[in-house]
Parts: sequence; C-alpha cells; structure tokens
Amino acid sequence: MSRVYNFSAGPAVLPEEVLQEAADEMMDYRGCGMSVMEMSHRSKVYDNIIKEAEADLRDLMKIPDNYKVLFLQGGASQQFAAIPMNLMKNRKAGYIVTGQWAKKAFAEAKIYGEAVELASSADETFSYIPDCSDLDIPEDLDYVYICENNTIYGTKFKTLPNTKGHILVADVSSCFLSEPVDVTKYGLIYGGVQKNIGPAGVVIVIIREDLIRDDVLPGTPTMLKYKTQADNDSLYNTPPCYGIYICGKVFKWLKKMGGLEAMKQHNEEKAKILYDYLDESKMFHGTVRKEDRSLMNVPFVTGDADLDAKFVAEAKKAGLENLKGHRTVGGMRASIYNAMPKEGVEALVAFMKKFEEENA
Ligand SMILES: *Cc1c(COP(=O)(O)O)cnc(C)c1O
Repeated sequence: MSRVYNFSAGPAVLPEEVLQEAADEMMDYRGCGMSVMEMSHRSKVYDNIIKEAEADLRDLMKIPDNYKVLFLQGGASQQFAAIPMNLMKNRKAGYIVTGQWAKKAFAEAKIYGEAVELASSADETFSYIPDCSDLDIPEDLDYVYICENNTIYGTKFKTLPNTKGHILVADVSSCFLSEPVDVTKYGLIYGGVQKNIGPAGVVIVIIREDLIRDDVLPGTPTMLKYKTQADNDSLYNTPPCYGIYICGKVFKWLKKMGGLEAMKQHNEEKAKILYDYLDESKMFHGTVRKEDRSLMNVPFVTGDADLDAKFVAEAKKAGLENLKGHRTVGGMRASIYNAMPKEGVEALVAFMKKFEEENA
C-alpha cells in the first residue's frame, strides 16, 4: 500500500486509522454479518451508530441542549436555499461576502427575499476579512450570514462579526472541528463534511431550537424544513447512512487525539511551518493578509503561471498531490485539514525549498 500526502480541498484526506477501521468492518460490521452500507437505517445497530455519532459530536463541540444536530444530504450548497427558506421570517437577511461560497449563498438568498450585502472583500479578490465590528445592520434582518473559513481564498474570521443582536448563521464546511467553538454565539452552524470530517454526501446542521419552526416560506419542500428533520432525528427518510458512520469514527478519532483544543494546537503548528516558509521564501508568496490566514487552506503563488504549473506537476511526482489552486484563482493551494499529519506539511515545505533552489 502506498499513500500520498493529499492536499485536496475536498473531498479531502481522512485519518488512516479511520479508513483502516472501516476497511476491517466492511464485510461484517461487529458480528452483524453485513456491511453498514447494507443495513436498515431503522435497525437497532444503525440507531446506535447515528446516536453515538451525535453524542460524540455534542461532546466535542460542547453543543448545548437547546441546539439540535441534524445529519442531512444535499451538501452545503443545498443549505444556501434551506437557510433562507427556514429563517427568512421578514424576508430580509444580511450577507458578508468573503468568497465564492458566501457569494453563492448570497445569490441563492435573493431568490427568497431581500438579501443585503453587509460587507465584502471582493475589492481585493477576497484576500482579507472585512472589519465587521461595527457594520451598518438594518434592524429587521432575520439573520447575518458568514462563511467562516473561505476554502478557496484561504481566509478565516478570527473574530465573529458583531451582529448587533441578530442571529448569526455560519458555513463552517472547511473549518469544522478544526478548533474549539462557542456554539452559543450562533443560531445555526452548518457544513458539508467532505472537507474536514468525512465522505461527501453528509451535511451537518447545528441549529438553535427556537429557530426550528413550522411557519417557513411557502413552497419550502418537506425535506428542506428543519422541523421535518428535527422531529424525526434526521431519519425522516433514509439518511446518508454510511457517510454518517464514517463521521462517527472521525469524531471518536478526534476525541482520542485530545479534542478540539488539541486539534487547534496541532493545526496551528502545521500551518506555522508552511506560513513561516512562505514569509521567508523568495519564490513562493502567500496571497492572504497575515491576520486573516486560514489554518486549513493555504493558497500561494510564484507569480509565474508556468512555474506554478511546473511546481504542481513535480510535486505530484514526489507524492504531494492536489496542490493546484482553485480554477478561479490559479496558483497553488495546500489544504491541511485535521487529518493531514505534520509530516505531510514538512514534506511539502522541504519540497518547496528544493524546488526554489533548483529553479532560482
Ligand atoms: C466546499 C464548500 C461548499 C460547497 O459544498 P458542497 O457540499 O459541495 O455543496 C460550501 N461552502 C464551503 C465553505 C465549502 O468549502
């Protein structure tokens, strides 16, 4: 078996221990004589799997009792619609536009009501997080929306916006479980799991109970009502069973690793290795304002598209995969999620140093 260091932005690297355990249980899950893929989502065995996954997630994130945890389908993108459909009581919401994903969510919200752009960093190709300490926020907004970690541009909100009493909704797809979080600051937290938690096909929504209502926008599909999903403990229909099972294993792995405090330290250590090198390199440069740098997604460039392409190709030959930047940005991007070991980042930096010497 030979595994590469996979710097993909998503679907992305998972802990090897988790993959091995899943492999071991593939043919016969703990004496059931079948794979988790093959069992009824209404079975006792599966009920234990999903309940335990939820309990472990609650434990890791210290999710208060007045928040529901939903395991859903449709990816993060489906939530771009589900959020306004469920939360736009006054048909008015504020969006802070810090990248492609926030932009898409903002555009989707406009289908359902008035979406107001509260701040944006589009003027400098989303290379920073705008100051959100004193925004001009209309009184009648139903919520304020952010994309907390911008996967494509590599920025992260280090302080949450001052919403002036409005509900905060956050897409945390690419920073989910990368560090401790105070859930009480949010009305709704959600993310696709394929970045930092599990296989594509699962989106986790953590929502404060009072926001789960019957009076959603007219025309909201039954499946997209949070109430439907909450009333049925995510089992209204067949959930993404196998994906949730893998998420559950990753939650256990995170607990074993010491939880989110330990993960944060680990992630800071890893990111520092790469950022320190970017700051001293004559060839490679980070593209993000220093104070807004993400711990998860690190974009960088040489300034020469041909050299970038050469770097990506040679890195691949050296077992460092998926370093090409997003198609809308170019350059390179190293995604260094929870499951990327420190050795992977060290190998990347060693390779960059060598490449810089050889191509100076
Ligand atoms: C990947 C990503 C999405 C889109 O996720 P899908 O599950 O493909 O819909 C949305 N938001 C962020 C921050 C992402 O990184």
